[in-house]
Amino acid sequence: MTYKINVLPSRTEFNSEEQQSLLSAALSQGINLPHACQNGVCGQCVATLRSGSVKPVDNTNALALTENDVQAGKILLCCCQADSDVTLDMPSFAGTKNQHIRTMPAKITDLNIYHEVAIMRLALPKAPPFVFYAGQYVDFLLKEGNRSYSIASNPEQTQQLEFHIKRRENGLFSSQLFDGRLKVGSIIRLRGAMGSFILNTNNNPLILVATGTGYAPIKAILHQLVNEQSTRAIHFYYGNRYTNDFYDDAALKELLDKLPNAQYTPVLSRPDATWQGKKGYVTEHILADYADLSAYEVYACGLPEMVLSCKTALTQHAKLPENAFFSDAFTASQAV
Ligand SMILES: Cc1cc2nc3c(=O)[nH]c(=O)nc-3n(C[C@H](O)[C@H](O)[C@H](O)COP(=O)(O)OP(=O)(O)OC[C@H]3O[C@@H](n4cnc5c(N)ncnc54)[C@H](O)[C@@H]3O)c2cc1C
Repeated sequence: MTYKINVLPSRTEFNSEEQQSLLSAALSQGINLPHACQNGVCGQCVATLRSGSVKPVDNTNALALTENDVQAGKILLCCCQADSDVTLDMPSFAGTKNQHIRTMPAKITDLNIYHEVAIMRLALPKAPPFVFYAGQYVDFLLKEGNRSYSIASNPEQTQQLEFHIKRRENGLFSSQLFDGRLKVGSIIRLRGAMGSFILNTNNNPLILVATGTGYAPIKAILHQLVNEQSTRAIHFYYGNRYTNDFYDDAALKELLDKLPNAQYTPVLSRPDATWQGKKGYVTEHILADYADLSAYEVYACGLPEMVLSCKTALTQHAKLPENAFFSDAFTASQAV
């Protein structure tokens, strides 16, 4: 059964099949509705049901919705499917302002393994240029399913993209990079750019937060700030377990050196005796450093638990407005 979906106020229309989330239906038709994690955690694909009915998609949990949200008719598009024709209210979606999602082949030109992370660079077809916003991601299209990865490179470079891939035990995609089945010269297919973890254009001071490869979209955002010769106050908190988890130190320091008002706080949760820096978790250090974040914007990316706890802590204990917290939660792919 195919249903018609109408998104207001942009009047965007697309079709949705049964057993398909409303978000994946839109993305497969090239419509980049606001979203990030695709797993109910980040809440960016929230919309209000105006007419029609929806039902949950199996194995999803709309964690980002409160009881009040549900009472008010709010739904997460990644967690529900159409049960009739549907009209949605989604003021966060501007329609035509969003670039088109494309599918294309790409060649691996560079692959460096640092402990548990691979930094992979891909060359893209020369034309038309691949346009993306810092903070967005692509899906790598594999026969068995898709895998999402954030773009870490400078948005001004449209012919070569950089990705940071964490090794996952028996990972469908990451294992192929770590065991050599995918190597320099291999061709892979990708679809993008997608997602709405994008920096707002204003001069508000910024707190950037990452754990692990959650640093990838933050690196792209730092590139953007350098391109803009930004003088914004920026404080980047980067959490890892062990010292050798900081896999891209030199490039990170080079970017931070170009930002006159940037501070950097690396944090380790399992430091060895030689570690001189902060210990524990990123959120506790942000709270210790900032009692009042009412004028700030926070961009957080990494483990879903970190993203959720960071939002709760900063909004409840440091006066951060709820609508000034932006996140990308690196959830595991559901498609196997
Ligand atoms: C928008 C978005 C952007 C992302 N960007 C990045 C990125 O830049 N770099 C990056 O490394 N990852 C990123 N991820 C997470 C990545 O897509 C998943 O971890 C993916 O499932 C890994 O694929 P795989 O084939 O290696 O492992 P899979 O075959 O998917 O999984 C293998 C095993 O590892 C477990 N697993 C996989 N991922 C996770 C996880 N995140 N947490 C806990 N257990 C897990 C699975 O449950 C399974 O048991 C992103 C996710 C999203 C939604």
